[in-house]
Amino acid sequence: MSQASAKTPRRPATQAAHLGRDPAQFLGAVNTPVFRASTIVFPTVAELEAAARGDHPGISYGLHGLPTVRDLQAAVAELEGGHAAFAVPSGLTATTLPLLALLRAGDHLLVTDSVYGPTRRFCDLHLRRFGVEVDYYDPLAGAAIERAFKPNTRVVFTESPGSLTFEVQDIPAIAEVAHARGAKVVLDNTWATPLFFRAFDHGVDVSVHAATKYLGGHSDVLLGLIVTNAATQPQLQRLWTDIGVTASTDDCFLGLRGLRTLPLRLERHQRSALEIARWLQARPEVSEVIYPALPGARGHELWKRDFTGATGLFGVVLHPVAKARIDAMLDGMQLFAMGWSWGGFESLIIPIAPEHVRTATRWDAGGPCLRLHVGLEDTADLIDDLAAGFARLAG
Ligand SMILES: *Cc1c(COP(=O)(O)O)cnc(C)c1O
Repeated sequence: MSQASAKTPRRPATQAAHLGRDPAQFLGAVNTPVFRASTIVFPTVAELEAAARGDHPGISYGLHGLPTVRDLQAAVAELEGGHAAFAVPSGLTATTLPLLALLRAGDHLLVTDSVYGPTRRFCDLHLRRFGVEVDYYDPLAGAAIERAFKPNTRVVFTESPGSLTFEVQDIPAIAEVAHARGAKVVLDNTWATPLFFRAFDHGVDVSVHAATKYLGGHSDVLLGLIVTNAATQPQLQRLWTDIGVTASTDDCFLGLRGLRTLPLRLERHQRSALEIARWLQARPEVSEVIYPALPGARGHELWKRDFTGATGLFGVVLHPVAKARIDAMLDGMQLFAMGWSWGGFESLIIPIAPEHVRTATRWDAGGPCLRLHVGLEDTADLIDDLAAGFARLAG
């Protein structure tokens, strides 16, 4: 855990450049180095005992917040306006650990029906095994989520926009209902990042990130971050320590490196995604583009009210067409690669079938769906690639 420090710049691009580093501590080096250690030794019994009590300015063991880990945690906590952050080895650890920390047997959990698939599997298989009741709610419920509450509801797990279907949720309305009933709100904020959705200003108690995506930004690191408010920090601190689930110092170094260019990259992802979304919207093969930043798109009004930007991931609904035609389109792409991730510098495209994973709501977009991640390439080249793809789709 790292407390956000008091004396730091306020504007996001400046914060991204300056948070989480202190050259004076490392021979003047601009960046906190990869700091490798397991054993930490102490010169006296008094200091050894102080470290065991947690009363030592350093750390007691390599598992509990090495400088590279600590600096990334402090930077992200401050960037998002949270109280503390915990670095974990993957985005999936970041979504699941808060649920383990905040729930116990007999509690009821509400999860958005648009949730990231592996988070759903964890809830269904493992939380249920530990005696937690799990129900899924309509991501468009807003304040009507109240009807899904039970006396034992302790946590609402949200993801907005959903990373497959992009429903924008009314997080302030959900948080108001949850807090009135003594429940906490956990948000998977991976799509927006701390830069484009200020989770704690909108009533969220714990905001989690697959830093594997935009924070890492280069498709070469697995990393998760859990940002808490003051009230939830002790429970996350306790479990993070007791499970021993710190991210590695090397991965945190890459997280800090990614942070330095995050505002710049996101600006470009956003500009390019909007350009390509508009181009797609005008194509005869496309029935709908589901990108909250696009005026008139589903979720646009809520997005405009609550978000300060949009990233490069969005959905496209095609007019009904044979699967073989879509396969021909995708198999021949030159720049858009097919893969189950996003947030890197490169563009990606995949076919998606959200209708098969829902349990509380029905997903029917009226045609086959694609998910695009718009990377940092020149948009003219990306559009050429898509145009050639549509030619293959036509056969
Ligand atoms: C990718 C992703 C995760 C999991 O991140 P990993 O680092 O791949 O484990 C969690 N939530 C969302 C929304 C994601 O897209």
